[in-house]
Amino acid sequence: MKTEFSLAQLADPDIAEADKILRACVHCGFCTATCPTYVLLGDELDSPRGRIYLIKEMLEKERPPTAEVVKHIDRCLSCLACMTTCPSGVNYMHLVDQARVRIEETYSRPLSERLLRTVLGRILPAPKLFRLSLRLARFAAPLSALLPASAGLSTAPTLLRRARAMLALAPDRLPAPGPGGGSVFAAQGPRRGRVALLQGCAQQVLAPRINQAAIGVLTRHGIEVVLVRDEQCCGALTHHLGHDDDALARARANVTAWTAEAERGGLDAILVTTSGCGTVIKDYGYLLREDRDFAGAAAHVSALAKDITEYLAGLELRPPSGPSQQRFGDVTIAYHSACSLQHGQKITTLPKELLSKSGFVVKDVPESHLCCGSAGTYNILQPDIATRLRDRKVANIASVEPDMIAAGNIGCIMQIASGTSVPVVHTIELLDWATGGPKPGSNRSNVSRAQAGADDLNA
Ligand code: SF4
Ligand code: SF4
Repeated sequence: MKTEFSLAQLADPDIAEADKILRACVHCGFCTATCPTYVLLGDELDSPRGRIYLIKEMLEKERPPTAEVVKHIDRCLSCLACMTTCPSGVNYMHLVDQARVRIEETYSRPLSERLLRTVLGRILPAPKLFRLSLRLARFAAPLSALLPASAGLSTAPTLLRRARAMLALAPDRLPAPGPGGGSVFAAQGPRRGRVALLQGCAQQVLAPRINQAAIGVLTRHGIEVVLVRDEQCCGALTHHLGHDDDALARARANVTAWTAEAERGGLDAILVTTSGCGTVIKDYGYLLREDRDFAGAAAHVSALAKDITEYLAGLELRPPSGPSQQRFGDVTIAYHSACSLQHGQKITTLPKELLSKSGFVVKDVPESHLCCGSAGTYNILQPDIATRLRDRKVANIASVEPDMIAAGNIGCIMQIASGTSVPVVHTIELLDWATGGPKPGSNRSNVSRAQAGADDLNA
């Protein structure tokens, strides 16, 4: 694609990067076929190629974007399916991230929307605040029936419609908090390694069982696990809202905390059980590349970051010994491949191989490249598109008739669980079960209310 940035514009490293990305695009349009919003809406401006044009115009002309441009960029899930499909290696992720920051800097959103985005950016990364908000949401839940339901995919969702979506996603019950920062879990038997495990923000409130399962598997296989004190939310949530100052401050704080821990006790890896977070931490090196004080350490942290399945692939997982050994040959698992794992980190077969080797029957889900609609805060900000994608995902999953659904990202787990009665668990919970841990539970507590939310689009 031909670009027309001036030399002065190209002196800005972000614009120089955008120029490189834009020039790689040959407008072939292959990406449109796998873009969930194009598949649903059929509008070129809701496809990767259309958005790339809009971003090019916005950056080149240095004009604040129009409401129309913002609408189409906001509808992007950042699922990155387009990056998997693109034959020219266009780095759409870095381009759309830059566009989101530019929008936040130059476009004045309606007051209600600004407030909502600020509230989401403050509450979701703060576990104590998030827990409190979910408790309040429980009391407000009966009011959700009074809030407006979907007005269709082409109409921008109102604040009240988004409030209804938020209430629908709040679980009926909250589990007790898991162990906090500063905890160290000793390896069982001779120590073979030492890792940090990202505590996450929303995940530690909604499903602390996930990291407990990871700790169980790791320590059972000789790995010491540390939950690093002073660690923060990875910054993914605010990064995707275009609030980059906040996201970069969190990245710097984490780089500082993890580097100190690595110097103190040694770290073989920084493990992540929420793939949305993993994709961003693996990108810290890029995000902080211009920061002289942090660039080197951030690149090192990114190199240490691994999805839990990547790390486990290097260990020989052992089933429990003795006569009580469980067999899983009759448990069929539908594996939902989170976008951040398959498109963001290119981890596609590893989780399925680990599950198969552990004895489960693993089934691929049709249209597995399409997002489930969770996408960070997307299911709150764009509830109608998100619900349509969820329903499509749930129908595809149902076609393989699973006993359980496995995914590697808490957002997907909550989103899919809100539309099905089949238990949705994290891959690590199944691996924990297979190696001597407890049988994973289900997300059924979340089903009834969210199922009511699902009815919105069917009405
Ligand atoms: S597939 Fe790649 S090169 Fe083709 S239009 Fe999409 S982004 Fe551009
Ligand atoms: S990130 Fe996903 S929703 Fe956004 S343009 Fe690419 S494929 Fe479409």
